[in-house]
Amino acid sequence: MTETEEGNARHRNGGAATDACTRDDVFDNTYKEKDGPKPPRTIVWKNVILMSLLHFGALYALCLVPSATSMTLAWSVLCFLVSALGITAGAHRLWSHRSYKASLPLRIILAAANSMAFQNDIYEWARDHRVHHKFSETDADPHNALRGFFFSHIGWLLVRKHPDVIEKGRKLELTDLKADKVVMFQRKYYKPSVLLMCFFVPMFVPWYFWGETLWIAYFIPALLRYTLVLNSTWLVNSAAHMWGNRPYDTGINPRENKWVTFSAIGEGFHNYHHTFPYDYATSEYGCKLNLTTCFIDSMCYLGLANECKRVAHETIDARVKRTGDGSIRSG
Ligand SMILES: [Zn+2]
Ligand SMILES: [Zn+2]
Repeated sequence: MTETEEGNARHRNGGAATDACTRDDVFDNTYKEKDGPKPPRTIVWKNVILMSLLHFGALYALCLVPSATSMTLAWSVLCFLVSALGITAGAHRLWSHRSYKASLPLRIILAAANSMAFQNDIYEWARDHRVHHKFSETDADPHNALRGFFFSHIGWLLVRKHPDVIEKGRKLELTDLKADKVVMFQRKYYKPSVLLMCFFVPMFVPWYFWGETLWIAYFIPALLRYTLVLNSTWLVNSAAHMWGNRPYDTGINPRENKWVTFSAIGEGFHNYHHTFPYDYATSEYGCKLNLTTCFIDSMCYLGLANECKRVAHETIDARVKRTGDGSIRSG
């Protein structure tokens, strides 16, 4: 990001977009990968077994779908959306990028929704995500897409982290996250909060309120929904770093991918997002195909969020002319 672009980024209500704590999400071109052979890949067998069981369970759950009541299916969709928002509006746009401000009640709701998504606690998720933006497509990127689709999708969770990921993650200050009591509370009580939000609540509601069997209530709204949210998030790291056009910056790998935009409720405008990571909409098109942006806008309307950062149209146009691939912009 050039100085002019940074200066042109403005809060919707007029304030400057930059603040020190978010600058760890901007690409750092001073980092150089170490020469010589790469460190050996160490497989974490516990994760391989758990992820295999989870995905076999999800396949079995698909076979159970015809036996579930329509209320249970609707509930599963609702749980999918709530947990996805815990990642997209919560861990991603609020806590990783500080692209808008959220009141205490909204932060509590997003933290609970984040536990429903069970993708590591907010602190860890945001740290890894800032490292991903800062060292994208290098050894220090936790899900370096240059290591292939499988690695950037799920493989990175099945092996020990590259030492540079750990080193660079440790060097981030993360003072804003440490100062957020909601983030630190969720981190402290992460395991019980996951048991409650990711498994117990999705299972209990259909069983208690409309008499669904516990078996189906476990496999569909809990296990299948969890697996689908995981894969939707992972597609942003894999597919949206490989397939699609690059209207904003051809010098980076992330792309505009409408399928990912759909599955990850608005996070597939990834060439835009890596070019302007501080934009709360992660797209120049606001709410279009972007349920997460609609959600944040609704929260602003209700007075629960404010100071949404946007990029000025002139800045986007100048960037498109300077570094874009000349393709039609998606959206
Ligand atoms: Zn990315
Ligand atoms: Zn991001």
